[in-house]
Formats: sequence, structure tokens, C-alpha cells
Amino acid sequence: MSPPARTVFRTCPLCEATCGLELTVVDGQVRGVRGDRDDVFSRGFICPKGTTLGQLHDDPDRLRGPLLRRGGELRPATWEEAFAEVARRLPPIAERHGRDAVAVYLGNPNVHNLSGMLYGRVLLKALGTRNVFTASTVDQRPKEVSSALLFGTTVSVPVPDLDRTSHLLLLGANPLASNGSLATAPDWPGRLRRIRRRGGAVVVVDPNRTRTAAQASEHVPVRPGTDAQLLMAMVHTLFAEGLVELGAAAGLVAGVEVVEGLARDFPPEAVAPLCGVDAATIRRLARELAAAPSAAVYGRTGICTQEFGTLASWLVDVLNVLTGNLDRPGGAMFPKPAAGGANTAGAPRYGRQTLLGRWRSRVRGLPETFGELPVACLAEEIDTPGEGQVRALVTVAGNPALSAPNSGRLQRALASLELLVCVDFYVNETTRAADVILPPPSPLERGHYDLAFYLFALRNVANYSPPVLPRPPGQPDEWQILCRLAMAAQGLGGDADPALADDAAIRFLVGRAAADPHSPFAGRDPDEVLAELAPRTGPERILDFLLRAGPYRLTLDTLLEHPHGVDLGPLRPRLPEVLRTPSGMVELAPEPLVADVARLRASLERARDRDDGRLVLIGRRHLRSNNSWMHNIGTLARGKGRCTLQVNPADAARIGLEDGGAARVASRTGALVAPVELTDAVAPGVVSLPHGWGHDLPGVAMAVAKAHAGVNANLLADDDRYDEPSGNAVLNGIPVQVTAAGPGFSQTDT
Ligand code: SF4
Repeated sequence: MSPPARTVFRTCPLCEATCGLELTVVDGQVRGVRGDRDDVFSRGFICPKGTTLGQLHDDPDRLRGPLLRRGGELRPATWEEAFAEVARRLPPIAERHGRDAVAVYLGNPNVHNLSGMLYGRVLLKALGTRNVFTASTVDQRPKEVSSALLFGTTVSVPVPDLDRTSHLLLLGANPLASNGSLATAPDWPGRLRRIRRRGGAVVVVDPNRTRTAAQASEHVPVRPGTDAQLLMAMVHTLFAEGLVELGAAAGLVAGVEVVEGLARDFPPEAVAPLCGVDAATIRRLARELAAAPSAAVYGRTGICTQEFGTLASWLVDVLNVLTGNLDRPGGAMFPKPAAGGANTAGAPRYGRQTLLGRWRSRVRGLPETFGELPVACLAEEIDTPGEGQVRALVTVAGNPALSAPNSGRLQRALASLELLVCVDFYVNETTRAADVILPPPSPLERGHYDLAFYLFALRNVANYSPPVLPRPPGQPDEWQILCRLAMAAQGLGGDADPALADDAAIRFLVGRAAADPHSPFAGRDPDEVLAELAPRTGPERILDFLLRAGPYRLTLDTLLEHPHGVDLGPLRPRLPEVLRTPSGMVELAPEPLVADVARLRASLERARDRDDGRLVLIGRRHLRSNNSWMHNIGTLARGKGRCTLQVNPADAARIGLEDGGAARVASRTGALVAPVELTDAVAPGVVSLPHGWGHDLPGVAMAVAKAHAGVNANLLADDDRYDEPSGNAVLNGIPVQVTAAGPGFSQTDT
């Protein structure tokens, strides 16, 4: 008799869309994955990545136990041996050279993971280093900086109300490939289609005619790296033509006249030669935005990863405010997540001043933002000798060897570390240099709740998924790994009980809530609250507490009773309650951004010497990939090679490139040879490579990824270029020389 099939529901952890999945499990094996038609948010939507969750679990290359470097090779070890090694080698480095000698890098998967979200900070606290790096300064720090300055917290990001808007202006975003980012919604394709079906417009500003642009009402090709200038000219037009109307935000916005003054220097005629969009089109974009019954402006990775990333991110919301679309249905709205967040806690107004650059990096003096340094300076902090030099690195679910700019330099720097400890379940381009690898359980072996992405969800929902499969004997949960690592770093040994760190973490949260007059737990005895949360431990206990303390007063038990999620309704206006600025107003003209406009003004001069014949490189996304994730899944890797250099046929003819031939691409920092794909989707003067590839490095143990290695676009990204207010890497608009190359594709660095 064949074993019975079990149907389980869980949220997909593979991107920000948070789709509900229905899994068929037979005898401990996932036999099928499809969209959960009853999921309150995704209603059955699924993309190709979501169907491969079982394959990720079964991947023979996924590590099932720790690895330790012995005799120069990574070899299997017990958990005890692995933690003992960390305990033996990590604390002495901090003792000898100071706490900043140990750096930490937290990768993007941490925000898709409850343990990463809740216990990453336990590790950071234990390490006590100022050398904290995360994937945020690769591609989203500008939005966090502008949101904190305008609205008071990094997570106060107004999201486009796709389901009710009649006009959507997208910049640097390709949600048909990415499934959306900092705007959580399953089924972007359907939601965008429905805007047009109800008579609305979707306008895409992007240097590349992406899938999203191809299906939009209008595609406006902009020169890479000039979105901020274009947006500023639109702001200029609104003021010049008397189109400013604050709507719901009237009386709650400070600095409108300052913005008007700043925009005077950016008439469309001055901006057009730089951004390659004519003045009439810029004016029309502004007028249509102002005239729409409801509208939302949304910008994402493409505008964050450029020289004026923070200004561009700021101007997106300036346009939302000036056209009366902030905080109204169909406009740009603030979600209200069930487990709370920085803009639901504490007093509804009069928050803390956002301070940037409280300290600076040792070598180049790049500014700290929100406790982190820019990843653009990680390599130099490791390879530049001197006091405070980074000598050990802890990475958690991160692959900076591929994702950091000038990653060739970082790859060499990683090899020079005294100690590299990685929490990861692959031997990838970063972890191949590790001394200790501590693999977390597979996503199916842990509980899931999207603590991060519900902060940006286009509908207020809450959904918890218990583990689908049991952890194998001896495999610690990820929170236990992070706590043991934290305790080892503190000198408590490799065998310290992670429950002690867990208890301290929940006690801290309960104690803080008890002291907060705005919390439902205000004045409560912490022991009494902890007794109510018993017998749960770990992330589920903290989640239960956060839900109870959140704005809907849910409990984890309620979520467990609703395997398809709890729908808390459409977004509702939140002004002024959502604001956490010290003034209690929307600060439309915060000083750091006003100061940075001088740099933007100076960029207009560059339009004159723009046509120097050089090409600029931009990135791109693909539906079957998520950064460097998922490249070891055979089903997703199949088909036409995706890591190609897209070149406009006019440029190809000039340079002598052929479709399917090879091109050598070189920048200040590196060079590589990539296959050529001729397409007029990229404008003349622009070439495009996707990021997250380049898996053919020695020591990488990912068979499928190696067979479809591609080349690493970030060898070409210049770590000298960054967005000044946020320190974010510049990954778009990189000047490159492109020439024909002989057969064979390879990655090298100069
Ligand atoms: S869109 Fe994202 S969340 Fe949905 S199935 Fe695909 S990878 Fe998973």
C-alpha cells in the first residue's frame, strides 16, 4: 500500500510576493507544489520559482551538516566541532584587535526568514562591531533613507495601491520579472493588467524595454542613472503649471516651498539632453500624473542603484505628495502590519531625528546609515592594513562575492581573512573561502512568517506557516545556530545553551513593551506575560508576542487556525498617525537631501559632454532567478542561456559584434567575456547583463549552477562610485568598453 498523501499550505519564502502554496507531501517528500487558491492574498498565483521548493529541499548539493577547513580543504564536521572552532578562534581576534576587527554581512535571504529577522540582531549585539554590512546597501538603502527622513522610519515606505489606482508610473522596476520589491503583492502581472482593463494607465520609465515595459501603456526609455533629474523636472512642471494639490496630506507637509525653490533649476529643457527624454514628454508625464483621478509613483532597484539613488527615491514620494496621492486609496499608501513595525510602535507622532553618518568607515570615510556601513567599502576594510582592519567575517545567508561591487577585489579579500564563518547551506562563491560553514535547515523545515514583507504589503494580511517537514536528527534550527554563534562570539564557548539567548531576547521585548505607555502591555509584569506565551520558545514565541502587541491584537493560535491566512482588509489612510518625524509632519525637504541637490544640479552640466561614444552597463532581472539564489535548481536553469550581454543592433554593427558571438566588457575594476544577444530592447549606448551569475569559481560545489555559470556583472561595478547620502552601491550606468572577443566566455578581473 502506498503511503498516504498529505496536503499542507505554506507561504513561499523565495521572493517578496509572499504567495500561498499548496504542497503535496508523500512519505516525507514533496511530490507537488501549486498555488493555494484559497490563500487570502495570492488566490492561487504562483511563479516558476515557487514550484521548485521541493527541489531546493532535495538538492544533493544542499549541505546537511557543518563543514570545517582542515588541511586547506572544507571537510564534514559535527556541530560540536564546528561551534568549538568558532569559540576557539573568533573571540581572540576581537580581543587582540578590537571588536571592529570582526565584521558581519547579512544577506538578502535573512528578510525572508523569521529566524534571520528575529535573531540576526542577537548576533549583531553579541559581536558589537561597527563593521556591519548587509544587502540593503547593495540595492535599497536609498529608499530607507528617504523614507526615514520624510516619514520618520526606514519602513515607512508608501506602496502603490495597485488594486484601486487609475495611473501607475513605474521607474527602475520590472515586477513582471522580480514579482515586486518593497511593494508586496502576489500576481503583479494580473494587477497591472487590471489597471489597464479598468481604463487606467501603466507608464514605465526604464532604459530597457523590460517585460513590464513591453506590456505597459507607455514605455519611456531614459538614459541610465538620470531618473532623479527626470523626476525633478516633473516636480518643476507641477509648480510651474499650478498643478500642486496636496489632498489628504494638506496641513501635514513641511517644506513644500523649499522643494519648489529647488525644482526651479530643473526645467524640462535643461534636463532633457541628459536623460534622453524630450521636454514635451516630461511635461506630459507630470500633467497626466496630476490629472489622473488617482495615481501612484513607484520606483525600485533601478533607481536605488545609481549615483542619485536617494534623491530619486525621495522624488518618487515628492511627486506622490504634490499630486495629492499620498495616503489615499488608489495612491501611495502605508500598510499596517499585524506584527507591528517601527511606525506602529510608540507614540504616533514626534519620533526621533534620523541621523546619518554617526560614524564613518575606517579607510574611505563612507557614512554609516542605520547602524551599517556601505557594502561598497567591505573589501577595502579587509584588505587595507592598519588599526581597525577587518580580520574576521561572519556571513549569514549572503553571497557578497557575487553581489558586492568590484566583487573581484572582495573575492581576493575574503581569501585573506584570518577567519570566515558562514551560515549557509551551499558552498558558493563566498562560502568556498570559509573556515566554518554552519548550514541552516531547509526552508521546508522551519516555520515561516513574513515579518519584513507585510510591512510593505498592498493589502493587510497575516499568514503563518508551520514547518512542512521535520528537521533531521541533530540539525539545529536557524535561531539556535545564530544564538550559539552569538554566545561563542561573546566567549561563552561553543556549547552554550541557545535557550538562554532566546530567553534574553524575549525578555528584552516584553520589558520594552511593559515600559511603553502606548503598548497594550504597558505596565504589565514581564513574568506574567512570559507565562502567557509559554510553552512556546524560539521565533514562534517572539512572533506570538509581536502579534499580540500589534495593531490587530492577533495571536499565533489564530493564525494557525487559518492556514490560508487572515485578511485584515485593504490599506486605509494612516496620516497623521503613521508619522514618526520629530515634527509630526511629512518632512518634504529634509536637510541632507536638500544639500545633495547641489550634486544633482552639477550633473546637468555633464549633458554637454555626454556623447563620448562610451557604452553604459545596466542590470536586469529574470523570473526564474532571484539575485544569485535558485541557480542550482535544474528546472529553473533549463532553456536558453540567460546570462547574456544585451546589445542594441546599432552599437553591435559599430563595434563588430554578432548575435551569439562573444564580447569583452571592461570597466575600471574588471573585465569579462560574455555571449552577445542583439536586441533593440536596450537603447543605443546601453548594454545589459543580469547580476548574480559567475558560478565557475574554483571550490564552488553547486553542480547545476556551475554548468550554467554565466559571468559576474559585479566584477565591472566600480566600488568607488556610490550614492552619497545612503552609501548605496552604483550598479547601474557603469561606463564600459565593449569589444569583440574570440569564442569562449569567461570571467576575469583586471
Ligand atoms: S512570485 Fe515569489 S512568492 Fe510567489 S511563487 Fe514566485 S517566488 Fe514564490
